[in-house]
Amino acid sequence: MRDYLVFKPSVKPLYEQDNDDFWFLFKDNKLMLLNERGKYSVVKWRDIKELDINVHSIQCIGGYKNQNCYCGEIIEIIERKNIEFLELIDVSKKMDKYLYMLTIRGKLLLNWLKLNQYCGICGSKTYLKDSYTERALVCSNCGNTTWPRTSPAIIVAVINGDKLLLAHNKQFPNRKYSVIAGFVEYGETFEECVRREVYEEVGIKIKNIKYFGSQPWPFPNSMMIGFTAEYLEGEIEEDGEEIVHADWFSKDEILGKYNKSLSIGSQLIEWFLKNH
Ligand SMILES: [Zn+2]
Repeated sequence: MRDYLVFKPSVKPLYEQDNDDFWFLFKDNKLMLLNERGKYSVVKWRDIKELDINVHSIQCIGGYKNQNCYCGEIIEIIERKNIEFLELIDVSKKMDKYLYMLTIRGKLLLNWLKLNQYCGICGSKTYLKDSYTERALVCSNCGNTTWPRTSPAIIVAVINGDKLLLAHNKQFPNRKYSVIAGFVEYGETFEECVRREVYEEVGIKIKNIKYFGSQPWPFPNSMMIGFTAEYLEGEIEEDGEEIVHADWFSKDEILGKYNKSLSIGSQLIEWFLKNH
């Protein structure tokens, strides 16, 4: 039971401060990492002391492997031989999957702090509630309280026999393709959103929508909710706005068409390749 939760979220440190505590430090959207002969690691408390780094917006995010985890921002890039600042997409390729997920938690939290410095009702400055049980920003004037929030977006793999629907969004680089995705509208269920996005973007109807998995994404506060579905009827007709080309691809045709990564879009495509 002790290892049931790999990570324990917490507003305050769970353990005594330790040299091996993890510190997820960001300069804008880049994470600071140590690179010892090609082996990347997250900054530890001892590194912060040794390098004499000035960290602001410090937040405890919880406990991992009996160490406290913090996130924070630094003002200037530190130029040292063994220090690198990497975009999150590159962090996902260099680090342990779980530490990458904690990186995302840290970035989401820092984004929330930055986007909620002022009250949405009266415009006064907010402050962090002093609490062991909840993380909230409270308005200094009217008391309006804001908690970290998540904006859901769906992503869906649509199967037609032995083929998968892939689309090229005009924002994708290098003529790459992916499965269909889009933000959930206010008041919409995930299933309604899946049906709407596929119909709007490529003009087809689907059935048998099934949950696949989810993945947080910190730009600025998304949660991708993945589904699989089956083709029902209709001809592919790209919307021309976002989707400039879409088609049914067999297993052999997919390789090289998509960006292989830890993203849930990539996971859905790999699920199709493995199971069809
Ligand atoms: Zn207010």
